[in-house]
Amino acid sequence: MVAFPPALQKLVRELSKLPSIGEKTATRLAYHLAANDRNLALSLADALQHSAKSIRLCDRCFFMSEEPLCTICRSGGRDASILCIVEKPVDLVAIERVGEFRGVYHVLHGLWAPLRGQGPETMRIAELVSRVQVEPIKEAIIATSATVEGDATAMYVARLLQEYGVRATRPAQGMPKGGELEYADDVTLSRAFAGRNAVEL
Ligand SMILES: [Zn+2]
Repeated sequence: MVAFPPALQKLVRELSKLPSIGEKTATRLAYHLAANDRNLALSLADALQHSAKSIRLCDRCFFMSEEPLCTICRSGGRDASILCIVEKPVDLVAIERVGEFRGVYHVLHGLWAPLRGQGPETMRIAELVSRVQVEPIKEAIIATSATVEGDATAMYVARLLQEYGVRATRPAQGMPKGGELEYADDVTLSRAFAGRNAVEL
């Protein structure tokens, strides 16, 4: 690495900050971009600039968007009485990929993890409470992962929603090990949503 020009060293350093990219992979990618594919390097730089400047969170559901409201919230064809609550944007993408859920979403951007110092204030909980007070939400499918933190979050959210007359459900068993929704195949997800159960409070 010392022999590389400083610009390439910087590129390696920046790439290796990405999740699951070690220094070896970063060096290989940087070398490829700088030595073999200048056009890709330029279009990648352009895409990075554009997304960093234009991508924000939806004002209503906190999914990624280029507008104040995301494409789902802007769509007129969604059922506003049923809300699906997920931990992160990729979970929403996994559910949309199946194409069966016609309701709206709320992305928490975190899980309740008291042992790691993450309380409700680190998630979009206050915004969720504001929504259930003004939107016609009757049921909330809490699709956080089937892990200790995912279950604890679901229980916390279900209790909160109960105060506003919203029925809380959880996707049925059969989710993949650890319950990471983003890795579930379409059939599993479809069955888990169809066979959802009320959260026992
Ligand atoms: Zn939205």
